Amino acid sequence: MLKPGATIGILGGGQLGRMLALATARLGLQCHVFSSERDACSFQVAPRATLAEFSDRAALEKFARACDVITYEFENVPAEAAAFLAARKPVFPDPKVLETTQDRLIEKDFITKLKIATAPYAPVHSAAQLADAVETIGLPAVLKTRRLGYDGKGQAKIAKDGKLGGDAAAAWRALRQAPCILEGFVNFEREVSVVAARSRDGKIACFDVTENEHRDHILKLSRVPAAVSPALAQEARRIAQRIAEAFDYVGVLAVEMFVVRKGKGRTLLVNEIAPRVHNSGHWTIDGASVSQFEQHIRAVAGWPLAKPIRHGRVEMVNLIGAEVNGYARWLSVPGASIHLYGKKDARPGRKMGHVTRVFPAARQGAK
Ligand code: AMP
Repeated sequence: MLKPGATIGILGGGQLGRMLALATARLGLQCHVFSSERDACSFQVAPRATLAEFSDRAALEKFARACDVITYEFENVPAEAAAFLAARKPVFPDPKVLETTQDRLIEKDFITKLKIATAPYAPVHSAAQLADAVETIGLPAVLKTRRLGYDGKGQAKIAKDGKLGGDAAAAWRALRQAPCILEGFVNFEREVSVVAARSRDGKIACFDVTENEHRDHILKLSRVPAAVSPALAQEARRIAQRIAEAFDYVGVLAVEMFVVRKGKGRTLLVNEIAPRVHNSGHWTIDGASVSQFEQHIRAVAGWPLAKPIRHGRVEMVNLIGAEVNGYARWLSVPGASIHLYGKKDARPGRKMGHVTRVFPAARQGAK
């Protein structure tokens, strides 16, 4: 168990790293951010920083010496860099988790082995295999690159009447013939996620199931609690728990799921695992007694997890691209908490900040 004053290394310098750094400071811990981006927004709030490439062994060596434990804020940390660091200092979650979650095919196979349902999928490594996959999975479908996809990047939909020589070939070309998977298109009722924390001694605490709305494949809005039955919410938490246990995970992870109708009921399909704090957990900073960021820091520091208590109904809205220029209107909205990430360039699709609104349940006896 780390003592206050110890140093947590964070690989990656985006807004997730920034909010992790802020949580670290609140707990009296130090943090050291490692990023290859000169303008990394985490650097603004981190007491120690390394600006270097993940391939720079000397920089990694020095960083490892300066840290007591190391974690990451994005999942595409090169496996070699994570392994290099893990040979020198404890790295949480274990880098082997990245090997699974960095590749959609390996991730889906892992989920399937746990007997957890996903959309139907098949590997696509050639035009011939794409034809076979379309045959087995059917259309509509989504072709996704196995690696390095996020926020809808590296995805191409093939319509119901998509022709193999037309839409399907175009999708294959659009993704530059990179190794892919073809996924059946899910006609979901809603999307939900579970943000779960697992401590070094294997205790798990889940936040309430969150409902997510995407716009142009980017998360726009989260609402808690999700509009699902208590039984389905429990099932969603159980799925996240099973995944965390199977990984022997330490830290926070998020599991994104589709809610689909099945007869008169509903069932869940896992879409994706994020081995890190997650955008759909940002509401926890203002909407719960402990945030996902603090839970993650507690877990990697070997501290006990907190039991999260939600302060009421919560909504979180992302400020994407130029939307951030309207930040001032939120400053006077009662109950709104505004978070700006300090990024200079409001490029389209870039997450620039978020706003959380908490609607406390009416207090007993309150008028
Ligand atoms: P992903 O990058 O896999 O998380 O996908 C981003 C978003 O695209 C998801 O949150 C869904 O809104 C949508 N999406 C991804 N896969 C599918 C699918 N198989 N069927 C329907 N929508 C999907």
